[in-house]
Amino acid sequence: MPRKPKFECALCGATPKEIGSFFFVQGEIWCEDCYGEFQTHVHGPFSTPQVEAALQGKPIPDDTVPDANDDTLILPSQIYAALDEHVVGQEATKRILSVAVYNHYKRILSLSKRKKTDVEIKKSNVLLIGPTGSGKTLFAECLAKALNVPFAIADATTLTQAGYVGEDVENILLRLLQAADDGGNINNVIKRAERGIIYIDEIDKISRKDENTSITRDVSGEGVQQALLKILEGTVANVPPQGGRKHPMQEFIPINTANILFICGGAFVGIEDVIRRRLHQNVMGFNSDNIGKNDDDYSEIMTHVVPDDLVHFGLLPELIGRLPVISSLDPLSQDAFVRILTEPKNSIVKQYKALMAMDGVDLRFTDGALRAVADEAIRRKTGARALRSILEKVMLDVMFDTPSDPDITRITITEDAVNGAAAPEIIKESAEEKAK
Ligand code: ADP
Repeated sequence: MPRKPKFECALCGATPKEIGSFFFVQGEIWCEDCYGEFQTHVHGPFSTPQVEAALQGKPIPDDTVPDANDDTLILPSQIYAALDEHVVGQEATKRILSVAVYNHYKRILSLSKRKKTDVEIKKSNVLLIGPTGSGKTLFAECLAKALNVPFAIADATTLTQAGYVGEDVENILLRLLQAADDGGNINNVIKRAERGIIYIDEIDKISRKDENTSITRDVSGEGVQQALLKILEGTVANVPPQGGRKHPMQEFIPINTANILFICGGAFVGIEDVIRRRLHQNVMGFNSDNIGKNDDDYSEIMTHVVPDDLVHFGLLPELIGRLPVISSLDPLSQDAFVRILTEPKNSIVKQYKALMAMDGVDLRFTDGALRAVADEAIRRKTGARALRSILEKVMLDVMFDTPSDPDITRITITEDAVNGAAAPEIIKESAEEKAK
């Protein structure tokens, strides 16, 4: 049976009951208002996004719901793909962050739309828990790059409560402002900064149980946490343009932090014991089998983390409340280290290969060599950060000698070369041989 044609405006969806007259334009029914807008557009300066899209032959955006395909919104799957280019493993965190960040920008979009939703969507700041060098900072950096928003990193341990020696919390915002500064109009710089991302590292080091007694440093860390609460939640902060301490005579730049995404990170060393203890205490009657089995498995234990464990660790419940998205990163295995060496877009091995190719040398690594580098990284316990310094040492002589010897065509780094038991394998070809 043929479908009854819909009698409603093709642009805004208004029906005859809502609006009196209709026009037939380009094979479609348009209401009086949209047609009026169209006319204004043709003869005058402005139209609605709906008319604009229709004129350009694009799909007509819905005015009431944030549009997932809007230019300013990247879908969770696209965010995931961007993270996946640089971050090895950590699948759960990739998914959690993709959704959190999508929701964060969707919330901003919904706030800026004319027809707001009645439901107030809360900010979804993120807490990343994971061993050092497992990719927490990398995640934050990659997100900012993928979303093309300004990005700043702050170290929580350098922050102090106002009135003590150290940095004011507002200085974090100054760094974001500097990252957003393209030399253009200050209002635009502020606007860009207000949609940026801030990564606060070492959040676990400002716990209130700090027993360090200093008269100049805010000893408890609680004051810093209190100061962070406000900017994490959303406030208009007055940022001293020169940085440093606030000064009564100084002019300030007001920055609204409501739409800034805060990602906090920390190793929370020993948190797995806190969780394990709690699980054992609560064990009566439920789930006891599982807990016993996976006691040694950090990643498994970390899936049970709840805000209370972080309170136990010295963070204020109010601060944890402002970090509703919690994700833990896995410690990196030998396999993960090998993949980090070789797979990411700008992996360390790819960088060395590119450097050597500039000298006309084909640089190769055996599987054994890559595994040996990974094993050494595991021993150093500083995560993937160790990889570069290990390789830097292995490559030093090669990089020193190669430029002076034009006959070298191929260098193979073997397991023995990594362990210092032998020199790398070098293949040479004279100019005449190459010419043949
Ligand atoms: P942290 O967790 O201490 O913030 P970083 O993100 O600073 O660690 O990582 C340190 C270094 O190791 C960076 O150069 C980063 O590129 C690399 N790295 C760490 N984890 C990963 C990972 N999962 N995938 C790819 N590179 C990683």
